[in-house]
Amino acid sequence: MIPETIVKQSLETNSYTTFSADNFNAYVMNTYGRFPIAIERGEGCYIWDTEGKKYLDFVAGIATCTLGHAHPVMITTVSDQIKRLHHVSNLYYIPVQGELAQWLVQHSCANKAFFCNSGAEANEGAIKLARKYAHEKLNIENPTILTAHDSFHGRTLATITATGQPKYHKGFSPLMPGFYYVPYNDITAIESAIAELDKDKRQVAAIMLEALQGEGGVRPGEITYFQRIREICNEKGILLILDEVQVGMGRSGKLWGYENLGIEPDIFTSAKGLGGGIPIGAMLCKSHCDVLEPGSHASTFGGNPFACAVGLAVCQTLEQENLLANVQQRGKELRIGLNTIAAKYSNLFTEVRGWGLINGMELSAEQEVTSIDIVKAAMNEGLLIVPAGPKVLRFVPPLIVTKTEVMEAMDILAKAIVNIIK
Ligand SMILES: *Cc1c(COP(=O)(O)O)cnc(C)c1O
Repeated sequence: MIPETIVKQSLETNSYTTFSADNFNAYVMNTYGRFPIAIERGEGCYIWDTEGKKYLDFVAGIATCTLGHAHPVMITTVSDQIKRLHHVSNLYYIPVQGELAQWLVQHSCANKAFFCNSGAEANEGAIKLARKYAHEKLNIENPTILTAHDSFHGRTLATITATGQPKYHKGFSPLMPGFYYVPYNDITAIESAIAELDKDKRQVAAIMLEALQGEGGVRPGEITYFQRIREICNEKGILLILDEVQVGMGRSGKLWGYENLGIEPDIFTSAKGLGGGIPIGAMLCKSHCDVLEPGSHASTFGGNPFACAVGLAVCQTLEQENLLANVQQRGKELRIGLNTIAAKYSNLFTEVRGWGLINGMELSAEQEVTSIDIVKAAMNEGLLIVPAGPKVLRFVPPLIVTKTEVMEAMDILAKAIVNIIK
């Protein structure tokens, strides 16, 4: 055991904070365009960089830190669980994994859960499940999964293929066969794709969509579109897979994004917000498509006691602290604030849209200003936000954000915009 004095010393001296950007880049692969700040600590909706500068965090680790930073429940759960047991593998029963699965099943349309470590891995599981279902239940030899333009489903080979954005495919061919893209919120495109692929002996086995497209530009799904898709899926036996990785776990103001659309998927995936920032993913399905069996799918770390204890604590805290009501209220205030700014600078902004605490602000295509420009200006003023493409700003604060913090964010954003148009 490391003596507590050494732990304390290293916290105080913070030796890692002297690790410069140049040194960092010498050792870490260059896969991210990083902003030139290094984050050292966080509390609630605020984080501090190594220079001591304070930021209001409306990124929340890209929509993951459900309970913000250093939440007492996270601290207690993480430290209690690591003392008790953190990993044993799925060779054995893990009671807390069962408890988390039960909570998710009791609070969704699903009957069963599979645990993994990330959104991409959850979507991989959903894709594998849909293919197995297609072979075994639908007798489709060459199944196709329909996905949408501007979607985002992850960075593994299958999930970049599912992602309907060519920029994520570049350099990685050959891509995975078995995917076909349609424009989002366009029901005619779905109908003709199904007919065409049918003729081509590449029958559609599943339709995989986000209830609200996050990364692709914060675009909410339309109710009529999703309801018609549900009808088509019922008529033809096609599975509806919803990627709830970003919009799920309460971010939309309902626990699951699909609750905003009045439909239920056959399969859905969760990750980002599920562990409040601790890596965990889940793939859930209804009984009729539960076709996996021992040996057909697995994950070494998936569902370990550490991640599941934290996931369960996040879920229970959402309920106990009535966070869905907070998400709805703060979301309304945030959209009012963003709309006020958009109206004041109407040549710069064209639209504000979103659900709960996932909101986007679209920049005019005619202006040169990009989302990165505003993100940088906001960062200078002490507000962290994240782009969703070159022309959309995304606001995804922790679900515990207060009204005062929403107002503060709007003040900082307004200041940043004044700096930009000067
Ligand atoms: C972030 C995201 C993913 C990928 O999740 P990872 O944990 O990065 O693998 C998949 N789908 C959606 C909708 C996402 O927002």
